Amino acid sequence: MSVDAATRMQFLFALRSQGITDKRVLDAMEKIDRGAFVRGIFADRAYEDMPLPIACGQTISQPSVVGLMTQALDVQPRHKVLEIGTGSGYQAAILSQLARRVYSVDRHRRLVTEAREVFDRLGLTNVTAFTADGSHGLDDQAPFDRILVTAAAEDPPGPLLAELRVGGIMIVPVGQSDAVQTLVKVTRTEDGFDYEALRKVRFVPLLEGLGRE
Ligand code: SAH
Repeated sequence: MSVDAATRMQFLFALRSQGITDKRVLDAMEKIDRGAFVRGIFADRAYEDMPLPIACGQTISQPSVVGLMTQALDVQPRHKVLEIGTGSGYQAAILSQLARRVYSVDRHRRLVTEAREVFDRLGLTNVTAFTADGSHGLDDQAPFDRILVTAAAEDPPGPLLAELRVGGIMIVPVGQSDAVQTLVKVTRTEDGFDYEALRKVRFVPLLEGLGRE
């Protein structure tokens, strides 16, 4: 990180105090500089535990929520992970530290282009971002060991459930976009899916089709 030691300690302390205890997750969040993913007037607030605006009317998630979702996803070094909602690319970059391969899709081309620039700058070679409507999944690369949806869906999308490997985990905010949603952990078993409600969250909605820019 290019930030001073005090800011960095405060950032990690906030994560721990919000229940992020997994050492691999904390290490990844220490290593990946959130400041690289926040542009413009909000850049100096990158180390505060709050969501911030990014281009295309979207948001970079709150660091503690990124940490808790990543922790719940239980990513292992051999895993192939799909993220829906690249946004700034921050969450995908954290996942890249934990997984073998990360695919991330966003419906806004501009966000994908900007995220790719940051991945290149940081030398993250195992993460690939695409412009696509992620609610249909990513057939070419399926199945996935882990799927993380970072936009709120009214139900866990069927095509994504179908691309989850048996034993695989999907984390998805479920609920109406204008209300508080429930973060749900879906585990694929031999004969179906188990659902566990984790906590309340607030995400932008998962929308159909591609964005205008
Ligand atoms: N994970 C991001 C934050 C995501 S914000 C980060 O770390 O910064 C949610 C993102 O989901 C937005 O960028 C939005 O464009 C995207 N999104 C919404 N619906 C989508 C869909 N159907 N397919 C792909 N991306 C979608």
